[in-house]
Order: sequence, then structure tokens, then C-alpha cells
Amino acid sequence: MAETSRHGSLVYFPRRAGRPAPHKQPIVPELPEVEITRTGIAPYLQGRKITGVVVRQPRLRWPVPRELPQLLIGRCVQTVDRRGKYLLMRFEHGTLLMHLGMSGSLRVIDPAEPATVHDHFDLVLGTQAVRLRDPRRFGAVLWCAGDASDHPLIATLGVEPLSEAFSADYLYAASRARRQAIKTLLMDHRVVVGIGNIYANESLYRAGIRPSMPAGRLSRAGAARLVEAVRDTLRDALAAGGSSLRDFVHSDGAPGYFQQQYYVYDREGLPCRRCDTPIRRIVQGQRATYYCLRCQPARPPAKAC
Ligand SMILES: [Zn+2]
Repeated sequence: MAETSRHGSLVYFPRRAGRPAPHKQPIVPELPEVEITRTGIAPYLQGRKITGVVVRQPRLRWPVPRELPQLLIGRCVQTVDRRGKYLLMRFEHGTLLMHLGMSGSLRVIDPAEPATVHDHFDLVLGTQAVRLRDPRRFGAVLWCAGDASDHPLIATLGVEPLSEAFSADYLYAASRARRQAIKTLLMDHRVVVGIGNIYANESLYRAGIRPSMPAGRLSRAGAARLVEAVRDTLRDALAAGGSSLRDFVHSDGAPGYFQQQYYVYDREGLPCRRCDTPIRRIVQGQRATYYCLRCQPARPPAKAC
């Protein structure tokens, strides 16, 4: 995993000799990866005219609309925005929605570059193209003729985690009377968008909250800690991703997602970075959950709030 160590590594902790590489699992693009992708491709799209649309595989999570070439060729991309994990490429007459799914990545390439079996979609802009590679095909390319905020996939999204709307009061209110685990709530995109498995694990560790705790037991103080932990975790990931921007341009390799060293994610059995207790792994909702028994107590001390 040369790619892994190249970006790596040194965001939070130096790797000690003799330890296993921290990433055995494929990276699923989460909010920081999507935002870094947006930052990486936007300069190549904004204000540029689409000269070609290539659909090699229309069967993604939903069918890629057949009429996309007629809709887009000759039109200018106005802005490239993000809502949750959706990229919104806005045109005068509508919005192209893209989602990277479980394994998608976008790169800026020479349109003449031969496509691999996993390169399903190109947006051509003269001498450059933005190419979607998605081995698992859970990504999406959709067209919305009206305002994208009314699209069913967008309209139901919760608040942005880095916005002021994601506050302690908001999370506390959203968690009342909920029996589901706090980690499940944190990953519910109707409540807050863009927090996938990695960052949910990491944020709960930073906040000292057991992932399996019923959400309804979250205290006001716990909500405040968790909101800050989510923001810190995402901001650190975004800062780490900045150094990998070059990988979105003229890259012929694997997705340019940055790797970080995590506190708990994918560290089963390894010592907690704070207290040396071996990190535990359980499965919640078919997703792996990692936590420290000591740093994330089952019953956090009750605090008046
Ligand atoms: Zn610990």
C-alpha cells in the first residue's frame, strides 16, 4: 500500500515500528473526501463548457439518464457545490448530482486516456475530462431540472456538520426519546449529513461516548462534546486532505483519498492511544464499531446541565 503511506500518516501520530498498517479496509468516501474532491475538480469545471459526455456504464446505483449528452453538451458549469456527500454541478438549466457511493472517485484526466473497466462516466471539457471511477457501482450520476434542494435525495438531508445549525442544542433535541444507539443516530443523514462509519467511530472516541449507548441517554454536556468532536474530526481530515489535492489531476492511480492514522477505527486489539487498553470491535447495524472500554465508559458520569 504505497499510496497509503505516501499520504499518510502523520496527521495525528507517528507510526511506531512493528505495528500493523492501520488500514486493512477500503476507504469509503465520506464528507471530507467528497469536499476535497469538490475542491480538487471545481477549478477544472467552473466557467467551462461541456464538450462531451461519455456514459460507458449506465447501471450505477440508479440508471444514468440517457439524455445527459443532449442536456449538457454546449452548456457551461456555473458552480460545483456540495450538500452532504452529493456533488452539485450547477448549470443554468439544472443541476448534475453526483454521489461517489462506496468506492467512487473523480479525477481530472486527458480525455484520450484509455478507460479501465471501472471508469463509467466522463464529463469532457475540451482538452480535459473529469472521469468517474467506481468499482462497486454504488455511485450516482443524476440530473435535476429544477432547484436541486427540492430533489428527493437532497430535500430529506439533515444539517451540515460544519455549519452552525449542528449545535449541542440541535443534537440534544434530536436524540431525545431515541432508543437507537448514538452511533446510529450520528450516521442518520436525516439528522446530520456526511458522517460515515470512520468519522462516527472517531468522533465518539474523542467525545468519550460509548457508540452503543442509547441516543436518548445523551446528556446536554455529552451533546456539546460530541458536536465539537465531530467538527474537530472532520476539520482534521479536511486539513489532511489538502496535501493530496494533486492526486485529482492527471492521476492514473488509485483514488486520491488521503489516509490518516485513527484513534480507534480499524484498530481492534491495538492499544488505545490514550490509555493502552486494547481497542474493542463490535458490529452495529452491519458496520464495524471500534471503541475503548475505558475512555468511552458505558455509563458516563451524570452531570447536571
Ligand atoms: Zn482508552
